[in-house]
Formats: sequence, structure tokens, C-alpha cells
Amino acid sequence: MAYTFKQCFLPSNKYSIKAPFIMTPKFITVHNTANDKPAANEISYMISNNNQVSYHIAVDDKEVIQAIPFNRNAWHCGDGGGSTDPNALKKGNRLSIGIEICYSKSGGVRYGVAEENAVQYIAVLLKQFGWGIDRVKKHQDWNGKYCPHRILSEDRWGRFLKRIEEAMKPKDSEKPTEKDDDAMKFTNETTKAAVHDYIQQAVDKKLIDKSWLEKFDKGTMTSGDFEGLKIIIAQRSA
Ligand SMILES: [Zn+2]
Repeated sequence: MAYTFKQCFLPSNKYSIKAPFIMTPKFITVHNTANDKPAANEISYMISNNNQVSYHIAVDDKEVIQAIPFNRNAWHCGDGGGSTDPNALKKGNRLSIGIEICYSKSGGVRYGVAEENAVQYIAVLLKQFGWGIDRVKKHQDWNGKYCPHRILSEDRWGRFLKRIEEAMKPKDSEKPTEKDDDAMKFTNETTKAAVHDYIQQAVDKKLIDKSWLEKFDKGTMTSGDFEGLKIIIAQRSA
């Protein structure tokens, strides 16, 4: 993970201004800050002022900072008091987790890294909530505001969602090395010879048909075949 996750919570005596309602989140709303401040400043400014403007998360090129618990609402969608009815149009402020991506005014590398951190963090959140990509909204979806401005002006919203979907997939290192229907591969000849001998002995003992050895020698035996074969050999030699 390329970012550090931190929490710097809004004091509860400001809940009445910035997070008045209990919320069961249903969506994630993506924003660009439209300035060049780091996440820590974005959060400290939000906490210190008394405007009805708030968001749960700010992300920059180094940190993901949470300021409001996800079970409280925040004012970031411009759709007012809205509704908690999932079928209502205006529900961003009442049902969504607000994520601000920093450095969007000037863009550049640090913005690019901040955006990638947001991609990775949103993927984590979706997995935690058991949600699909359809839960990720842009600010524009709620009230028409041109936000996240940089992603929109560079016409990358679709690609942004695709990157989140990619980030949700298990990494190569988490995948099994061989699929059942792939031909067996051996990293060294000793292992290959040992498996050959194992199959040869089973054929000699008439536990399995000799066609299995031919298949192995031709290199067409799959991992699934071999797993099945081991079960048969174990059963028949018992
Ligand atoms: Zn916005």
C-alpha cells in the first residue's frame, strides 16, 4: 500500500454543524478539492471552520485521512438535507461517504499519485462493505456540480472506475500458481522425474492405466488430472 491511513476526527461538539445525522452509507462520492493543499490541511481547515461543509476522507500523495466516522453523514454533495430513501434522487449528503482527492487544481505527479491512492483506498472500502463499482458516484451525479473537475475535464471517469475494479481483483501473488486446466509445469527435472516415477509405479501396480503415463510424458497432463490421479492411486492402493 502506497499511502498511510490516519484518523483525525471532527470533535463531536461539531457534529451538529458538520455531521448531524446518523448514516448507513450506501455510496461513495468522489471529489476533487480544486486547490493545491495536502490532505492534512484539507482536514484541519474543514474541522476548524464552522461552515456546513464536510467530508469523511481526504487523500493526497502520501496519506488517506479520515475525519468523520462512516456512520455519520457529511455535507459534500450540494443536494441539501436530501433523503435517506435509496430511490430518492437527492441522497448524496445523507447516504454517501465523501472522498476528496487533493492537488487537483494544478494536477501533475503529486495529483496523479493522490488519485491512484484514492483508487486503491476506494477498492479497499468497496471490498469492506461488500459493494460493487456501481456504488461509486461523482459529486456531479448528485447536484450537477462539475466535480471531480480534473477527472471530468480529462474525460477519465470511466477509466477511473475501471482502475478501481482492477484494484479490487486479487493480486497475482494471491492467486493459485496453477489453474486446474493448465498443463502441469515443473521448475526442475528432478521433480518431473519423481512425478514420472510415481505414475510409473502406479501403472506397474496396475492401479491406473498406462495411458496416464503417456499423457504425462507428452506434457498434456493438467494439474486437475494429477490431483484426481493422486486420489485414485491412494484409493486403489489402500
Ligand atoms: Zn465535489
